Amino acid sequence: MDSKIFIGIGSNIGQSFENCKTAIKRISSDKRAGLKSISSFYSTSPVSDIRQDDYINCAVEIDWQGSPFDLLDLLNSIESSMGRVREEKNGPRVIDLDILMYGDGIIDNDRLTIPHRELHRRRFAIVPLIEIDPGLIHPALKKPLSGFLTDIPADQHVTRLEGIAFQNDVIAE
Ligand code: AMP
Repeated sequence: MDSKIFIGIGSNIGQSFENCKTAIKRISSDKRAGLKSISSFYSTSPVSDIRQDDYINCAVEIDWQGSPFDLLDLLNSIESSMGRVREEKNGPRVIDLDILMYGDGIIDNDRLTIPHRELHRRRFAIVPLIEIDPGLIHPALKKPLSGFLTDIPADQHVTRLEGIAFQNDVIAE
């Protein structure tokens, strides 16, 4: 299936940029995955009631030879291998890997919701996605992703990190 599959990546503990980069390398080194695109990296404010540091966020587009559940298993195993423990909801984390969209796929069950349940409410998730593909439509809500940005509270800050040329070296390493 030729689906546009997007993964959201975030970190706000330790070397957040390096953590995101490590996660991208681990995703792309799985033989079922093909890395198609990496967004810019962004500094973003936490969307949480818990006091914590700002995040680094980005998104990648991949090809995937497998099911959405196989992909979730891979992402969960990468999170565990990077030292993530299941902490409190919306608390700080070494790495967070979410399937944001899986083509036009819609899944809603106990383990997996696609598109990601919070995608349309989070500026830090939408901005990197529409940088990669400005025309993306939310398959369940049937609206361009860019159209949700005006409804998102202004206190969700997302700042593109300029002048960091790492995209090619991440793919090449
Ligand atoms: P979180 O703490 O927000 O990373 O949530 C992790 C859990 O959310 C995982 O164990 C998944 O079972 C569940 N989940 C539901 N939908 C998704 C999704 N689209 N991407 C990643 N995890 C998901």
